[in-house]
Amino acid sequence: MHGLIDTDKFSSALRAKSLDTANRRLLITRLGGSEQENDFTVPANCGGLGRIRHFKRDTPIGWPANPLPIDPASRALNLSPHDSIRAQVFQNASCNWRCWYCYVPFSLLNGDPSKAEWVSAGELIDRYLEVDDRPSVIDLTGGQPDLVPEWVPWMMEELQARGLQDEVYLWSDDNLSNDFFWRYLSEAEREVVEGYRNYGKVLCFKGFDNESFEFNTRAEGSLLDRQFGLCDRYLQTQIDVYGYATFTTPSRTDLARKMGRFVDKLQSLAVNLPLRVIPLEIRSFTPVSDRMTAVHRDAIENQSVAIDAWKNELSKRFSSAEMALNICDIQPRSEVAS
Ligand code: SF4
Repeated sequence: MHGLIDTDKFSSALRAKSLDTANRRLLITRLGGSEQENDFTVPANCGGLGRIRHFKRDTPIGWPANPLPIDPASRALNLSPHDSIRAQVFQNASCNWRCWYCYVPFSLLNGDPSKAEWVSAGELIDRYLEVDDRPSVIDLTGGQPDLVPEWVPWMMEELQARGLQDEVYLWSDDNLSNDFFWRYLSEAEREVVEGYRNYGKVLCFKGFDNESFEFNTRAEGSLLDRQFGLCDRYLQTQIDVYGYATFTTPSRTDLARKMGRFVDKLQSLAVNLPLRVIPLEIRSFTPVSDRMTAVHRDAIENQSVAIDAWKNELSKRFSSAEMALNICDIQPRSEVAS
């Protein structure tokens, strides 16, 4: 693919390829035998459609600890605090962006039925229930799950139908590229999502300025503003939302000021929102190393400047006690703490 992605056109095309509304089926990536399977510590499960992921709190030196989704899941499931948590992962077979650092091979993001399987939410839950020592967390990822926002309420309905709503925590991510949650879900479906207790959603900011966003995603840099607009809409729902941010950038020029502007924008949505956003360090997984050129290697190096700038901004705006709070206790819009 050359040039920038036409995000809206591509999103609609991929949605059409990934959702069978009449039969309530979704196109889910077949991980078994895929290039991505090289990066797994254990083979794919659930008939090739799933994998086990270990989320870890520890991060490399210099990076903030990552409590997602460990702390929200532990809180919901009444577990004592852990430093890691296992999750059953399913990936939808489409994404509308092409981040160079994506750990999913691009061939698994095109809504290609030869690399995926049509299944209902109920069939996914059936396969999950057959997993030995099954995790208590189900992670719906991608791809971009919100190309098919029906996936989340359908999974919730199936979990409820089996009486599993209190013993399973559902987690999904969203690249903040479209308004399909509002455009395609009925009010009743949105109510299911907003009213579901054991659910958390993480919103992924793909850069800290237009340049880094465009460099990372191959989509128009101005869509970073759309990311903020969509985040604002989610903050107005009852959904328990968190954020990730990636800071790979081709340029270090004026980085501290640009990062300050990024944190300003987060705070313009909700004063404590930065405390709910976790920067993720980009590293080279198997599919990534093949895509990298000198500018990408520089971008990986530039992250160290960016994360220092992020930490500096947060330390100017929040006390160390506030920054040490459990992320679940951060109220985005009000006084910190609970
Ligand atoms: S938005 Fe996510 S799934 Fe899509 S290309 Fe970027 S990292 Fe990969």
